[in-house]
Amino acid sequence: MHNRAISIAHDPVRKRFLPFHCPVITENEIAAVVKVLESGWLTTGSKVKQFEDEFRRFVGSAYAVAVNSGTAALHLALAAVGIQEGDEVIVPTMTFAATAEVVLYLRARPVLIDCEPGTLNMDPGKLETAIGPKTKAVIPVHFGGHPCDMQRILEIGRAHRLKVIEDAAHALPAAYQGRTIGGIGDITCFSFYATKTITTGEGGMATTENPEWANTMRILSLHGISHDAWKRYSAEGSWYYEILSPGYKYNLTDVAASLGVEQLEKCRDFYQARKRIAEAYREGFSDLPEIVTPPSDPKVQHAWHLYVIQLDLDRLTIDRGQFIEALKEENIGTSVHFIPLHLHPYYRDTFGYRPEEFPIAYSAFERIVSLPIYPRMTTADVDDVIGAVRAIVEKYRR
Ligand SMILES: *Cc1c(COP(=O)(O)O)cnc(C)c1O
Repeated sequence: MHNRAISIAHDPVRKRFLPFHCPVITENEIAAVVKVLESGWLTTGSKVKQFEDEFRRFVGSAYAVAVNSGTAALHLALAAVGIQEGDEVIVPTMTFAATAEVVLYLRARPVLIDCEPGTLNMDPGKLETAIGPKTKAVIPVHFGGHPCDMQRILEIGRAHRLKVIEDAAHALPAAYQGRTIGGIGDITCFSFYATKTITTGEGGMATTENPEWANTMRILSLHGISHDAWKRYSAEGSWYYEILSPGYKYNLTDVAASLGVEQLEKCRDFYQARKRIAEAYREGFSDLPEIVTPPSDPKVQHAWHLYVIQLDLDRLTIDRGQFIEALKEENIGTSVHFIPLHLHPYYRDTFGYRPEEFPIAYSAFERIVSLPIYPRMTTADVDDVIGAVRAIVEKYRR
């Protein structure tokens, strides 16, 4: 793996390693967690309710159901709209494991499709051709925080009676044609995993305008039981409960929700900080044809969860893996989002996908590098990333 030959002769730009991500946790978050710990009520209760209420107001949706991961939110969303064995659900290949795995939880089949070259979002043209008689839903992923072409996806979805479940794990806060992501599709799923734009350590949220789906997701999130635990055990509830269906153990804790309330309050400030970094990167790489920066689109507000550059490998003497190694030697942490699903052994072998079957995702995969973009980065950190990328390009340009 490690290629010594590309080791950079001069001193690295930075002395200390810059991690790919690091969350903002202040005294507010710590105090909020301590308060919950002292309250005597640790699991799902009033803090979760407060987080849900504030979240649904934030994204402008009628209902919000908090759960313990973004994956759980996606699973419950598909269950709520009635996905079952034998159904097909269209999923982009350029995504994380969770997006397709939840389809398999319900014994339905994830049908992968290719992405667009610029945004790396699901290609709506490919969506249309992948629809068959068994197709029941589509899961657009707002890749990196750049909203998908929701107008076309919703039009296609309506024409074919598909449910549109948005994977918005990267898209808080993001907007499409002035509408906040979270109030557009049938159900929208967010993640509060440690690396996401706000975090509860682990956590997720599903938002919808549909009261029945919200109710189903809420019931399924806690053993299929008809009342929330906190209502059952507090003065306003009773000991009585009913199991309406087999459910799951997906409820969020008040400990986690207390983090969420604090983080949501800072969400817009975090966004502004990431946006400034994205602007600095665009500016810093604008004269380098070797580095293709993410496209801008006036129709959308990009959440800038990820900053994914695409290398023009024809202009470089090193490949993506070596580029990442060189950045590491400059003390810059990076990542790759994503290894397309169809290249993974499970999807390749189970469904017989070939690498070239999705040529845009396959070619992008060999060229993508995610650069650090988070509010804790200082201006000097951002300059260091730009300096390191520039130094590597200058050294290895063809
Ligand atoms: C992080 C992520 C998820 C899953 O979220 P978890 O909270 O980790 O379960 C789903 N989809 C995408 C695209 C993600 O990046």
